[in-house]
Amino acid sequence: MSDTVPAPTPSSELSRLLGLQRAAFLRDGPPDLAQRRAALRRLKAEILRRRTEITRALNTDFGQRSERESAIVELIPLVQSITYLIRHVGHWMQPERRHVSAYFQFGRAWVIRQPVGVVGIIAPWNYPVSLALVPLATAIAAGNRAMLKPSELTPATSAIIAKIVRAVFPPEQVSVVLGDADVGTAFSALPFDHLLFTGSTAVGKKVAAAAARNLTPVTLELGGKSPVVIEPGFSMQQTAERIAFGKLTNAGQTCIAPDYVLLHEQDQERFAQAYQDAGHKLHPNGYTGSPDYTAILNTHHYERLSGLIHDAEAQGAKVIRLGQDAPAKHLLAPVLLLNVTPEMAVMQEEIFGPVLPVLTYRHLDEAIAFINARPRPLALYYFGGKRAERNKVLKRTVSGNVTLNGTLLHYAQDDLPFGGVGDSGMGAYHSKEGFIALTHPRGIYKQGRFNAATLLKPPFGKLTDLITK
Ligand code: NAD
Repeated sequence: MSDTVPAPTPSSELSRLLGLQRAAFLRDGPPDLAQRRAALRRLKAEILRRRTEITRALNTDFGQRSERESAIVELIPLVQSITYLIRHVGHWMQPERRHVSAYFQFGRAWVIRQPVGVVGIIAPWNYPVSLALVPLATAIAAGNRAMLKPSELTPATSAIIAKIVRAVFPPEQVSVVLGDADVGTAFSALPFDHLLFTGSTAVGKKVAAAAARNLTPVTLELGGKSPVVIEPGFSMQQTAERIAFGKLTNAGQTCIAPDYVLLHEQDQERFAQAYQDAGHKLHPNGYTGSPDYTAILNTHHYERLSGLIHDAEAQGAKVIRLGQDAPAKHLLAPVLLLNVTPEMAVMQEEIFGPVLPVLTYRHLDEAIAFINARPRPLALYYFGGKRAERNKVLKRTVSGNVTLNGTLLHYAQDDLPFGGVGDSGMGAYHSKEGFIALTHPRGIYKQGRFNAATLLKPPFGKLTDLITK
């Protein structure tokens, strides 16, 4: 982790910035399409201009995160999302004509998506660039102003984000606030017009409670344990490779990483072998020697993950290590846990690291019941070739999103909403849903010169009798 800790923003400054942005929003009104597109283009250009600075800062903050991985998992999807917003926002901004019933002819009705005003954005550390700047770009596309609080645990990256924002926007349009949980607490107590929080479920509940005091609507992008279900007898090589890809990207520090696997008891050995092969294929020179393997962010998380592995081992799990660790560098080689029981600590909390527990079932219904007995996950992954089995799992479970026969990639689909449900979140962004979340649907009715409704006023005539009969 970096030593460069930027100074926290004082709480008096938070209210001042909000006041400044709100006054500017009321004074200038919503930006038109050309202004929104220009702002998004400037943001995109500044991100691209500073791409090396960004990937270096990420490497500093994580201790090791390859610049190529950062480009693939953060910069490319981020730039792609901004391009998508530039392309589609004009269409979403169009007023939408609505039906007018016979009584209210010859009036007209339509809906405009009005920007809500000032959006507060709180971001986590695991994808600190994209999870700060995709929400920001969405807020800009929706015509809003925004205040952004990135994570204190990635200080070098947060400093670059602050620089990018300062270079592109005046403070009355977008400003960055720096600091830890105390600043986060003060930030979420501000009377924003919308708060978009990405982080843990525990903190999400605090943010929702703080926002409720101001009746500020929230979008909560939270975490949880995302299961993988493998159909009995399904082919294992590609399945294991795709699960390893999802689990080992960013060393498992991904909100939608496959958290645990549910497979048929007869498939466990086949999967274990295929997963080890897949791990070796991804990093043929081992994990300590691979420049493309990301370190665990800090000592706290490294020790937490080591503790989960030791606890599982002590309780009878079979621990398969796919390589050597380098604790001084926080490099934790992938671990596969077999014979896992639901009582183990590794099944009680979101893992958020390269540790993959495997649980077995005899009938697919048991896997479905297992998922439904737990909080609703952010993502669900199903691997299988039988339509009936797949539909059964899809119909009888609830999750934020789904990727079939793969992992993570629903996130990269610009035209799909992304969000959780229940404990994994509330609301969604990406795609048109993000624009909808950060705008108010203002219904407008324009009364015509002649209108049947005018016959509904006293003195009531025959038409009223007809209607009330
Ligand atoms: P976190 O909840 O600890 O912190 C997130 C942000 O909230 C940080 O900026 C932090 O400073 C701030 N914060 C902390 N306490 C606060 C408080 N009391 N009030 C207001 N703000 C506060 O999460 P994290 O450790 O940074 O990130 C990991 C978690 O985020 C995991 O659970 C992961 O699944 C989840 N996550 C979810 C998504 C998603 O899109 N759904 C994406 C990435 C991460």
